[in-house]
Amino acid sequence: MCLLALVLGIAGASAQSASGTGFTHEDVAIRDNLIAAQETLLNVYRCRFGIDVQEVSGGCTNGLPSQGFSQPAEFEGTPTLRDIRVRDQLIQLQESLLNTYRCRFEFEIDTHITPEGCPGQAGSEPFLTLDLDPMVRPEDFAGDPPPGLITPTGVSVAVMGLIENAFVVMTPCGNISTVRTGLPLQGVQVVLDPGHGGSYDVGAIGPNGLAEPELNLTLAHAVLSELSSRGISAATTRTGQYGSPLLVRAAFADALGAEALISIHHNAPTFPTGSQPGTEVYVQSASPRQARAESARLGGLLHQEITEALSGFDSVAWSRLPDAGVMRVLLSSGGDAYGLIRRPKTPSVLVEYGYLSNPSEAALFATDEYIRVAAKATANAIEAYLNTDRSGTPAAQRSRVFNPARAPTSCNEVALE
Ligand SMILES: [Zn+2]
Repeated sequence: MCLLALVLGIAGASAQSASGTGFTHEDVAIRDNLIAAQETLLNVYRCRFGIDVQEVSGGCTNGLPSQGFSQPAEFEGTPTLRDIRVRDQLIQLQESLLNTYRCRFEFEIDTHITPEGCPGQAGSEPFLTLDLDPMVRPEDFAGDPPPGLITPTGVSVAVMGLIENAFVVMTPCGNISTVRTGLPLQGVQVVLDPGHGGSYDVGAIGPNGLAEPELNLTLAHAVLSELSSRGISAATTRTGQYGSPLLVRAAFADALGAEALISIHHNAPTFPTGSQPGTEVYVQSASPRQARAESARLGGLLHQEITEALSGFDSVAWSRLPDAGVMRVLLSSGGDAYGLIRRPKTPSVLVEYGYLSNPSEAALFATDEYIRVAAKATANAIEAYLNTDRSGTPAAQRSRVFNPARAPTSCNEVALE
């Protein structure tokens, strides 16, 4: 391994057809090779001094990386302005690191090539102030925007299209609006729906004052970070204490092309208590007599993982209905009773983790330990749904008949940027 090998590695980029943004695959390949060269330098450092050698893919031989030059995978798809911008910022960051090194030592190495001199010298710019801006703008996309965005105020929205200098989005209340920038939601595998929210949809409340919309949101955020640590991409239908009609939540999951939608709830009123959690999971119907297979499998895994995890809290008196489990809930006129189950094309389930109205459970739900355990169990089930063909608790053959009150459709808009 020598510097010459790194230079040869960089020269390996091949020209490909131009895309709508004017960037070619060669533009991306040159930058990816430069970044891979930095990775190789890091690996040489790791192997040379025996630091973090477990990070070196393929290991070290005689103090050098066994695999030589790190070859980046070939970039697929259409390069956008953002692809180039992110890579240029990473390369610029390496340049800043080099300049820091050049200026760091008393003997100052090659300081004549640091563009603004060394920090502390008159007229010099500080190093390492790069802002790796992950926000996207309409001009980053050649007519093909991401299916969703997190807006600058942190609200998740589906993207309907592009107009000049703006993304056209569906607001949480289901109106059409525009935003100029946001974090892209792309390749989202799972959408979590923290049930209720806002002044028109208040959900259940615990005897300890714990409000269901807040509890559902806290748990959804914990599931989100648990999934992210497992490399599973997820988003939530609402990100704060605001309302959003069910049809907007369902449309959001469908727009993102997610593989699963999980609505998170905590139940009321309270029924006789015992030692088994009364967790209920509602799944989608494929026909008047049968559950939809993907929804039933997702629901079965969630029920199994959640009841197993909650059973560990053995001092809790759990409220439970005799038919608690995985089931379809139908209107007496037929059809799935809950809008979040009936509306989405995405395989969907609604989970009632337990009874917030029950003092014993409400006290548990207020603890960080519950959030941690319930989030982990939920992520276990989602991971098994995505990566295995396990199916968990079987769905009950008999459906429950229930005619819920109409879900609120009134809604207060929140600021998007
Ligand atoms: Zn609820």
